[in-house]
Amino acid sequence: MPNASTKDKMSGTDLVKQRKGLMITPDLCIACRGCQTACKQWNKLPGDKTTNTGTHENPPNLTPNLYNQIHFIEKPMDVGIEWLFVRRACMHCGEAGCMDICPAPGALFRTKEGAVGFDKEKCIGCKLCAAACPFDVPRYDENDKISKCTLCSDRISNGLSTACAKGCPTGAIKFGNRDDLIGKATTAGYNLYGETALAGMGVMFALKEEPAEYDLPKPQYNASIALWDTLIRPLTVLGLGAVAAGALLHYITIGPKEVEPDDESKKGGE
Ligand code: SF4
Ligand code: SF4
Ligand code: SF4
Repeated sequence: MPNASTKDKMSGTDLVKQRKGLMITPDLCIACRGCQTACKQWNKLPGDKTTNTGTHENPPNLTPNLYNQIHFIEKPMDVGIEWLFVRRACMHCGEAGCMDICPAPGALFRTKEGAVGFDKEKCIGCKLCAAACPFDVPRYDENDKISKCTLCSDRISNGLSTACAKGCPTGAIKFGNRDDLIGKATTAGYNLYGETALAGMGVMFALKEEPAEYDLPKPQYNASIALWDTLIRPLTVLGLGAVAAGALLHYITIGPKEVEPDDESKKGGE
């Protein structure tokens, strides 16, 4: 059965009231990567073997064992360079393309705090969620099962903050009720990224400059998902070429896949 629209699922009054989130303030980030370490520690994720690519950014992107990565941007200035440090991870979109396209019932689901959770046991490894995600988030482990940030659902459902927010020494990652986070960042004079886009993202950014300066894309729900939902989902459920269907959807919605140096990080293993 197709999943119900995530937009519908986010509209319940209780969920909106209970919705938790993160506010990321890149201006406060010192790139200590305490958040990366805290996430790995809490989720028992092993280290990744990496190579020096001439930048301090390491690893260079998300991996199946890295749910939360600090992206380094170097901006040339009149004298020297300016660094911007921007967290990459699942945005826990209110209107989540990954959930809408997923053909495996229960593999991706909405938690009562508004996060997008996953169940590896139910994931069939078709990778449609990766094609549907506007933020290039889902990764796959050595068994081709989805791997991504859970918004620490096992912590926040027990009244704790997320591990990354707890591990951040500067307040660059703040956890709380989504509405409170929005109120505080707005009062502090920041422009918000993610407040209303995609039916409101669970992870938002408090910015002083335009989102493009931070390599943040325009949040877009791919309208083709709804169209292809009816065609591709039955094929994948029947097991008739799930990977081919994913590739077809990727081609139609995003275009031909370009091989990038960090594409290896999207696979399981090293
Ligand atoms: S960021 Fe991507 S993986 Fe995360 S909820 Fe949004 S669409 Fe899904
Ligand atoms: S919310 Fe939890 S799972 Fe997500 S990046 Fe932070 S520590 Fe990792
Ligand atoms: S722990 Fe906080 S300051 Fe350190 S890298 Fe992460 S977001 Fe930046």
